[in-house]
Amino acid sequence: MELNSRIFVAGHRGMVGSAIVRQLEASGYGNIITRTRDELDLTNQQAVFDFFKTENIDQVYLAAAKVGGIVANNTYPADFIYENLMVQCNVIHAAHLANVQKLLFLGSSCIYPKLATQPMAESALLTGELEPTNEPYAVAKIAGIKLCESYNRQYSRDYRSVMPTNLYGPNDNFHPENSHVIPALIRRFHEAKLNGDKEVVAWGSGKPMREFLYVDDMANASIHVMNLSNQVYKDNTQPMLSHINVGSGVDYTIRELVETVASVVGFEGSINFDVSRPDGAPRKLMDVGRLKVLGWEYMVELDQGLRKTYNWFIEHNGHIR
Ligand code: GDP
Repeated sequence: MELNSRIFVAGHRGMVGSAIVRQLEASGYGNIITRTRDELDLTNQQAVFDFFKTENIDQVYLAAAKVGGIVANNTYPADFIYENLMVQCNVIHAAHLANVQKLLFLGSSCIYPKLATQPMAESALLTGELEPTNEPYAVAKIAGIKLCESYNRQYSRDYRSVMPTNLYGPNDNFHPENSHVIPALIRRFHEAKLNGDKEVVAWGSGKPMREFLYVDDMANASIHVMNLSNQVYKDNTQPMLSHINVGSGVDYTIRELVETVASVVGFEGSINFDVSRPDGAPRKLMDVGRLKVLGWEYMVELDQGLRKTYNWFIEHNGHIR
């Protein structure tokens, strides 16, 4: 892609979209198109069609999504399935109508069955039941993959999909209840440290295992996959035409994670696990073999990424989402 291509990053205020914009700019791309939610409501079909009709977009990174942790997914299932389906349908179809040939759709590791063989390969998709706490969100993301795949099959588009593992980093949502585990813990330990609390509560049994990826690595992988030549991409995504796992290939127990966050934040009290809170899937480790073959591996180790995220949090505390 040429450096002056018109690249639309949908969701540029989110954690992943903002990281993609940073990385594209750093790589010399000078024509990045963004719209805030007030300027363009991606759930509004007509508005999205009009946008694509007039903007001459060459490439789309579809990073706009309604996302949240285990409690948010459980509490707002209708919002999660509705908003994600609408955004994907509108953006993907409008891109096609406007003759945009290249699009990258961002999904999630929760598309895989709850009890998928670990590590989870791309071929595990649709082989079993999903984790019930985030099934509506997962169904929307699976539909997104299938949308891309179908436009490729029917209209010879080049719409690719990447499925990230659990991401974290700057611009994450640090809501105490509705966020994912890392931002929730950073905030809780930070506040406990400031208040001089002796104890912090983490959720669940501490036994589930999770893989984490720093968001700048995700942005880097997204641009890498978008820019792979057609031939290389196709040769490595058969028989599934359009999705690739993105992760580190390394996982930790939630207990290990909790202890690492406590040490990064500098909280020295005790940690208790509240088993009345849900554990979610027992393990969600990605098989990242395909991505390695395609020439990409993660760079930022967990403790390093947690430190960067905590520094960002301290700098922005007070005006975080
Ligand atoms: P998941 O990967 O879809 O299950 O999403 P989460 O990031 O919300 O949760 C990951 C794991 O961390 C689950 O086993 C949670 O029970 C556990 N966990 C521990 N403490 C917290 C917390 O404060 N917030 C969240 N969201 N999860 C927590």
